[in-house]
Amino acid sequence: MPKVYFIDVTNRDGVQTARLGLSKLEKTMINIYLNDMGIFQSEFGFPTTRHESAYLQANLELANMGVLQPIRLSGWVRAVANDVETAFRFVPNIRHLNLSISTSEQMISGKFQGKRNREDILMMMVDAVDAAKALGAEGIGVNAEDASRTNMDFLIKFASAAREHGAQRFRYCDTLGYDDPFSIYEAVKVLAENVGIPIEIHCHGDLGMAVANSVAGAKGAIDGGQDAYINTTVNGVGERAGNADLIATILAVTKSKGFVGKYQMGRRINLKKAWNISRFASYAFGIPIPINQPGVGANAFAHSSGIHADGVLKDPQNYELYHFAELGRGEPELVETGREICSGEYGGISGFRHIMGKMAITFDDSEEAEKVLELVRYANVEAQKPLVEDELLFIAKYPEIAKKLLTLTPLE
Ligand SMILES: [Zn+2]
Repeated sequence: MPKVYFIDVTNRDGVQTARLGLSKLEKTMINIYLNDMGIFQSEFGFPTTRHESAYLQANLELANMGVLQPIRLSGWVRAVANDVETAFRFVPNIRHLNLSISTSEQMISGKFQGKRNREDILMMMVDAVDAAKALGAEGIGVNAEDASRTNMDFLIKFASAAREHGAQRFRYCDTLGYDDPFSIYEAVKVLAENVGIPIEIHCHGDLGMAVANSVAGAKGAIDGGQDAYINTTVNGVGERAGNADLIATILAVTKSKGFVGKYQMGRRINLKKAWNISRFASYAFGIPIPINQPGVGANAFAHSSGIHADGVLKDPQNYELYHFAELGRGEPELVETGREICSGEYGGISGFRHIMGKMAITFDDSEEAEKVLELVRYANVEAQKPLVEDELLFIAKYPEIAKKLLTLTPLE
């Protein structure tokens, strides 16, 4: 039976969103958390964007060191041969790419303004796939932007051409959140049956259905005989109303009535990391987790009304579908209410040693301590907020990688 995989796009769709962004260290931490969770792939950035190069190379180095393993790191590139060449010039070690181009009549005429037709789109896409293969790409996904508003015959032709040229996956993008669970199920099933290629489902929440559509699309791929790769973002951040939330989608695929026990995950998901990754993303993006967020919201396991409280005390299953401990909740967390020493871009050695000492990190050599402190200062310049423990530990453990992440050299 085909399987369900998760591809998280927080470090691409999430960070390109208006008003939202992450430092390169924060992006790296997200990749680490996703890897710990058992997520198949992180779309980790933009290889043609110059300020991403050092970050992307440093994360590929972490993969080589075994730190970011087995997660797959893939870059997002326009399906333009020139862009693919630029990607390999800026990030020579990149091995996985998603190549994206608009396929709907609306976007072809609305964006290209009569300068390109469907045949041109097909040609650009296959040229980009050929270029990626020639330059050493091992994993290629092809994205049909606005697939949900694209003529199905053309979509089949497009995905088939991608497969014939060596793409391993086809991404069905419901770019505007236009699909509903019924329409996306049908569309993805038809594609899976007619093209014979694993399908990525990329959904947005403009009509409040991103998670429901992702689950329905995945069922369509599986019923059509192909593996499903669901695209998610942590806390659902993403363009406009956002993408399918990672945790909610995992919960839906593993615990909903029609899915529980029936579908196989391609990789074992460690849901116990849910609390950590969601909290970190909330801190890094500077967006509170909504109180009613599935699984990780403050109210996800809170009960006050008489009947509910009585019921859940007698047997939690009366009012809870799953246990909080499954999501890594329930551990006490230390919140400072008195004096606090924070990291900062103007921090000094004494405060730094104090902060690290609280995490049982000591430095034998003061040169080493000064070096890590200097990196922490730079990280603070980017983050503009005190770093969290995991970030400080990362910098102390991998100073050479941190140095690369923090290196920005414009106008080279
Ligand atoms: Zn998107």
